Amino acid sequence: MPTRAAGLARLEAFLPRAGRDYAEMRNHVAPPAHANVSRLSPWVRARLVTEAEVAGAARARHGFREAEKFIQEVYWRTYWKGWLEQRPEAWTRYLEAVPRLRDGLRGERRSAHEAARAGRTGIAGFDDWARELVETGWMHNHARMWFASIWIFTLRLPWELGAAFFMEHLLDGDPASNTLSWRWVAGLQTAGKTYLARADNIARYTGGEHAPSERQLAAEAFVITEEPLRRVALAERPVASPDTLAALARGGRLGWWLHAEDLAVETGDLAAGGGVGAGVVAAGFAGWPAGLAARAGWAAPVAAWQRAALGDGAARAEGFFGCGFERGEHADLAAALADWARREKLARVAAYEPPVGPWRDEARAVETALAAAGVGMVWIRRSWDAELWPRAARGYFPFWAEVKASEGAPG
Ligand SMILES: Cc1cc2nc3c(=O)[nH]c(=O)nc-3n(C[C@H](O)[C@H](O)[C@H](O)COP(=O)(O)OP(=O)(O)OC[C@H]3O[C@@H](n4cnc5c(N)ncnc54)[C@H](O)[C@@H]3O)c2cc1C
Repeated sequence: MPTRAAGLARLEAFLPRAGRDYAEMRNHVAPPAHANVSRLSPWVRARLVTEAEVAGAARARHGFREAEKFIQEVYWRTYWKGWLEQRPEAWTRYLEAVPRLRDGLRGERRSAHEAARAGRTGIAGFDDWARELVETGWMHNHARMWFASIWIFTLRLPWELGAAFFMEHLLDGDPASNTLSWRWVAGLQTAGKTYLARADNIARYTGGEHAPSERQLAAEAFVITEEPLRRVALAERPVASPDTLAALARGGRLGWWLHAEDLAVETGDLAAGGGVGAGVVAAGFAGWPAGLAARAGWAAPVAAWQRAALGDGAARAEGFFGCGFERGEHADLAAALADWARREKLARVAAYEPPVGPWRDEARAVETALAAAGVGMVWIRRSWDAELWPRAARGYFPFWAEVKASEGAPG
């Protein structure tokens, strides 16, 4: 269920296993229940439940030392987001490559691509994971690593098309975690370091369920090269707080745009000190862009999940801000939002800025449409992102060392 309540219930149910059990067992792939991991990613990805809540609950339950592995994994999501914000070209290059590479597939390459997507390669494990992905919208992290490695180095298919296959079907499909994890397996993310799936590793971590023969898998990885990615500075954004919104509201009627990248406005910064006062936000908008799923390449279940999650977020945002949220589907979301802002006589609209990805593209159009309507757009940022994204400029381990130091966590 794409609701915050379902996400919180899942977190609560998993918490007893988030300590030592998780550290020992997380790499063991045990379908269909996958009880060794939380399967929280679709909820965390949409921020129906925030990273701060998940990491905080694990720490409170087990203490930092016992839960460190789990907490560290939660921070990977934030790290990838911060990294992509500073190198958005990794996303735009991928977007440009997908249709070009797909249209360029011929003969055997084309058949290999079709077989991989349909789970008909004959490679033990790989075919099951492909089918599990399409049927359930989720795949275990270790299986994602093996799958990506076999796709790239055994089947010799472009990594971009594998990443697009994941984005099509994953309920947690995320431009940062997905693109950058595929790049990591391909050896683009950490120079000179590829990830090669090995038959004995697959057999071991699937409890012998899948045992490809050595001959079925590539014996070594090859080198993929690219032009270096340009690094850009993070945009400066005001940090979210009730005071930030109150100050904006003093300049005239304030609206809030809710999108599917951050669906728990009532938690974290805006809830501080008693929350946002009544009447500060005068009206809300939570429309669904009709063409988004097609533009983003999402299968129907992914779009349905996001849309239902947006509905759940809107219902809670209404209660939190104490105002109505306009819903509905719009062929041109930006135009519909500008009309709404005019009708509501808003001076400004505020929102959490969507990170790099399809909703960021919507955001740029929204900005332009509001400017044309004479309404200001104010992007704000959660303090979690404001503190952590700038640290995600280099590798994960320096990032994690800084996080631990600043959290006062035992080393
Ligand atoms: C090739 C590849 C593609 C991936 N694509 C995505 C994607 O599109 N979206 C996505 O959310 N994750 C992606 N991941 C990361 C990871 O596989 C999933 O987040 C994880 O499997 C989620 O399962 P879980 O909720 O049971 O995680 P748990 O192991 O229970 O971890 C708890 C939480 O930590 C976060 N987390 C854990 N591992 C990672 C990780 N490696 N990277 C980022 N966050 C993590 C998630 O929010 C997760 O819910 C990808 C990994 C690989 C190797």
